[in-house]
Amino acid sequence: MGIFARTDRFSRLPCSGRSPVHRSFWLDEALDLRAEITPLRGAERTDVAIVGGGYVGLWTALTIKEQDPHVDVTIVEADVCGGGASGRNGGVVMTWWPKVSSLVALCGADEAMRLIRASESAINRIELFCSEHAPKAEFRRGGWLWTATTGAQLGAWDDVVTRAQTLGPGTFRSLSPEEVARRAGSPQHLGGVLEPSNATVQPAELARALRTRALELGVRIFEGSQVMAIRRGTPVTLETADGTLRADSVVIATNAWAASLRPLRNKLFVISSDMIVTEPIPDRLADIGWTGGEAVTDSQTLVCYYRTTADGRVAFGKGGWSIGMGGWMPKAMDRDASRAAMVARDFQRYYPQLRTTKIATDWAGPIDRTYNSLPIFGRLHDADDTIHYGVGWSGNGVGPSVVGGRILASLALRRQDEWSRSGLVTARARSFPPEPIRFVGAHVVREAIVRKERSEALELRPHKLHVAVSRLAPSGLEDKE
Ligand SMILES: Cc1cc2nc3c(=O)[nH]c(=O)nc-3n(C[C@H](O)[C@H](O)[C@H](O)COP(=O)(O)OP(=O)(O)OC[C@H]3O[C@@H](n4cnc5c(N)ncnc54)[C@H](O)[C@@H]3O)c2cc1C
Repeated sequence: MGIFARTDRFSRLPCSGRSPVHRSFWLDEALDLRAEITPLRGAERTDVAIVGGGYVGLWTALTIKEQDPHVDVTIVEADVCGGGASGRNGGVVMTWWPKVSSLVALCGADEAMRLIRASESAINRIELFCSEHAPKAEFRRGGWLWTATTGAQLGAWDDVVTRAQTLGPGTFRSLSPEEVARRAGSPQHLGGVLEPSNATVQPAELARALRTRALELGVRIFEGSQVMAIRRGTPVTLETADGTLRADSVVIATNAWAASLRPLRNKLFVISSDMIVTEPIPDRLADIGWTGGEAVTDSQTLVCYYRTTADGRVAFGKGGWSIGMGGWMPKAMDRDASRAAMVARDFQRYYPQLRTTKIATDWAGPIDRTYNSLPIFGRLHDADDTIHYGVGWSGNGVGPSVVGGRILASLALRRQDEWSRSGLVTARARSFPPEPIRFVGAHVVREAIVRKERSEALELRPHKLHVAVSRLAPSGLEDKE
């Protein structure tokens, strides 16, 4: 077999540390422009190389260092740590409870519960980390309100809540419709349930504090250094534009960008999520009663998610508009003015009392969706124990990335334990159809969802065809009924 067959390649990325990519509101706040960026130059050697400096790469590095400080760990990041989804997200810290049925189907009730409990502990871990190392991350445990904003969405939570009631009684709290509307600050919320363990953070402050902590523990971090190729062998060699890094073990933590790697191409489906943030309006939030720090989602397939910030802004996002093709992502994955305007319209529809509020800025980022919306872990090549991946967070990665870090640390160190043998590692991930069928099909399905949800927003009965085609969408943030 020739050398090319033993090399995995990433598509070229536009970002390079200091290059003028569009930044999120959060990263603009958190990024210290004086922080030094060290690109990978020349030939370097390490025990464990991690590709990607988002939450997953950083939690993996921290976990390895906490378990064995003697292991040399090196992160190679194309942009800056937190430049990807970890510095752009809604900052809603959730568990895997909304995926309970998918988890049980994937790995059985016992393992599903072990993973769900681990995702609960992950929130405590983030709380502790923020109190010790990330005070600016504004950790706030205000719970998650899972709501309906149209009649059609009412009861979307029933299956999950019923299952959770059996496996973890008391996880979700039933609220009266009045209480839901009161807590969410708007009568557009017609009903819902509360998951009180969930929290919010300033996501980029969390990512940057993880980076600082990793450096303190001796992790080496090269930023502005895109890995272009992974050459298999003993050791494995990572190639960037200006250097090489040889490693005994490699972890791929590149989120949606992993879709350009051939072995993962059909396992991931990349879509955008778009966000806006308002100017500070603490008095108006007090007027409408949204003061408890609750994160709110509706129950649409193109889900809207929103939360308040410590200085009294509303950050409001919507998932699913732009669609990537294989590993290729349109530039509009970073920002798109017309999509941002649609998000602003949804915000004004849900909060008509706030419709004169100024939008401060907008941005977007890619979501690495898997078929069942659970992350996937494993060996990049079955016969090779040196390169592992942990991707496919499907829009719920802030909290679960802590669990991912434990799984990837065990895989990278070749430990035989409950993490390396976890059901998320051993289960075989379902593939999407190959490109270009997937790209075309995804547009057809998305169009059906848009039309169905537009009708439902007007409390009209959607066309049967749109309902039928929209059922073909992979499951979203929550289990698919
Ligand atoms: C707009 C938006 C809103 C979201 N809201 C929420 C939310 O409220 N709650 C929630 O739980 N989740 C949310 N998510 C998802 C969550 O942000 C992600 O699941 C999580 O950040 C994944 O972390 P990660 O480390 O895998 O990815 P990332 O943070 O994207 O890190 C991957 C890194 O890899 C780097 N990289 C890529 N290719 C290469 C290469 N070849 N060489 C070197 N480096 C490379 C990238 O630059 C990037 O920094 C949201 C995502 C988006 C985009």
